[in-house]
Amino acid sequence: MPELPDLTVVAEELAKRAAGRIVLEATAPAPILVRATPEEVASLAGTGLGAARRRGKFLLLPFDRDGRTERMLAANPMLAGRFWLLGDSPKVRARTGLRIRFEGGGELRYVDREMLGKLYLVAPDGLDAIPGWSEMGPDADDPELTLERFRERIRRHPGELKSLLRNSRFVAGIGNAYSDEILWEAQLAPLRRRSTLHPDEVDRLYTAMRTVLADATERVRNLVPPNIEVQHREFLKVHLRGGEDCPRCGRTLRQIGGDEATTFCRSCQPPF
Ligand SMILES: [Zn+2]
Repeated sequence: MPELPDLTVVAEELAKRAAGRIVLEATAPAPILVRATPEEVASLAGTGLGAARRRGKFLLLPFDRDGRTERMLAANPMLAGRFWLLGDSPKVRARTGLRIRFEGGGELRYVDREMLGKLYLVAPDGLDAIPGWSEMGPDADDPELTLERFRERIRRHPGELKSLLRNSRFVAGIGNAYSDEILWEAQLAPLRRRSTLHPDEVDRLYTAMRTVLADATERVRNLVPPNIEVQHREFLKVHLRGGEDCPRCGRTLRQIGGDEATTFCRSCQPPF
């Protein structure tokens, strides 16, 4: 699942390489992925793609006309959705949710192997209509999310740390992979309850969150472009590495759960 580092870099690449392109034609080959009518999708023709950005686990693409944003595409790729920036390539793969051809050649596509992602096409002031949008907490890398604000927010969110980090009402942009990385870095057990944390542990969690995400974003920036459809995770230290040695203490990493696995070190991340 693309998380904050992945989507940040995709947004940066799209802003760098596709902003300013004029839409020649927009279609939804697999309309079930798009929360808009075929007419609304087609009406993107003639608009210019603005600078993409990320919010939480959404990628936001503005479509501008006459100097103002006319429509906003908010894409939540869920498990397996990917954007592709292509030259002229007529063959359309199965499970292509959106196809945007540009004047002068080239196109942007959204392809979703699992068909679980959602693309919303809304008015620029219509983002609040997207389920979960208005309740979303600050981005986990938001400069305004200071340690002080983090301490304040975490008081209002009880429960297990792994779920807490993945809860976009608390902080936005973190999923299954990076929550494991952050908790290992902070040396806190995933099933610890927030109510058991000492103040210094809360501070450690904040520092780990910021460090892990900043480091990962930098790594992804060096690995992903120009192929924005590829996800790189090979540098992760613990996530899905159950059975391997802990990079900190050398003991065997444990893994629980199936598809949504949690990996941790029982020695570095004691359960109390
Ligand atoms: Zn360890």
